[in-house]
Amino acid sequence: MENLKKQDIRALSKQELKAYFLSKGEKAFRAKQVYEWLWKKSAIDFDEMTNVSLSIREMLKNNFTINAVKVDDSQFSKDGTIKNAFRLHDDKICEGVLIPLEDRATACISSQVGCSLNCKFCATGKLDRLRNLNADEIYDQVFMLNEQALSNYNQRLSNIVYMGMGEPLLNYRNVLESIEKITSTDGLGMSPKRITVSTAGIAKLIKKLGDDQVKFNLALSLHAANDKKRNHIMPINEQNSLDSLKKAIIYFYEKTETRITYEYIIFKNFNDELSDAQELAEFAKITPCKINIIEYNAIDNGEFQQAKREKVDAFVNYIESKSLIVNVRRSRGKDIDAACGQLANKLVKS
Ligand code: SF4
Repeated sequence: MENLKKQDIRALSKQELKAYFLSKGEKAFRAKQVYEWLWKKSAIDFDEMTNVSLSIREMLKNNFTINAVKVDDSQFSKDGTIKNAFRLHDDKICEGVLIPLEDRATACISSQVGCSLNCKFCATGKLDRLRNLNADEIYDQVFMLNEQALSNYNQRLSNIVYMGMGEPLLNYRNVLESIEKITSTDGLGMSPKRITVSTAGIAKLIKKLGDDQVKFNLALSLHAANDKKRNHIMPINEQNSLDSLKKAIIYFYEKTETRITYEYIIFKNFNDELSDAQELAEFAKITPCKINIIEYNAIDNGEFQQAKREKVDAFVNYIESKSLIVNVRRSRGKDIDAACGQLANKLVKS
């Protein structure tokens, strides 16, 4: 109970921390030391701050708490993918996945606990949105997955995708703040070009990203380039039609000159025909882009199935024939429900 009354020290900016130390008659450089412990070393206890005097540590303990995220459980897939349940300070759980490949290690992280958008093919969509993650909690997932990549695969994270639980643009401010921390030299110092935020498609917020001239990559989970089909699988499309998304994407591209990525999960007998490929190619040609065709992983009680390999090949050939860049993503971590659309599958089942 006592902790609840104390302020989370990580909510303080470097400047605020400096002001705090000065107000206590301490030297300003203490702020830099403590800030480094909190962000570069992700300390979860004031006693880890060994270059800070005992009396200052006591003062900090009396006034603040550190609401760090902890790994609650990790599951290891045969293909090397590691899915983590992260426990937050209020005992809520979110998930983050480490996907190691030969030449890179990608972290797939969450931006919300649960999700409000109810995409039909997604396990997370079956959970209610409980709350937004704050910037520190998002950053912590990245920090821990980086440690996991180093200790298990001897490599640093090379890419980060905001494709775990939640719709990142509905937690706009905290997501952008977390990216500032990840890219800052006070944090992990990663290039924003290694970070991709994936949205289900909220036109006015895509425009806002353009106005904010963000440097990271944007992916749109498209999955159907036809309003009727898209309304069926992604209710968010009812207020954000493909036409409004098109306009927002053109605007985003004009402001940032960043090539957008379209994610397209291919479902058997739903969006795997050549006519669907034609609609996709037509939609995608509005700006420079890249298309990822993703193999579907069935979730329990879901209405969709995986498309046949021949259909996927024909679909991809058609897109390629239109001179568009297309990759096929075979899913990873299926055996532990870590693949695309499966996060929270165990939570849904329980
Ligand atoms: S796909 Fe993304 S936006 Fe849609 S319900 Fe799942 S987590 Fe939410």
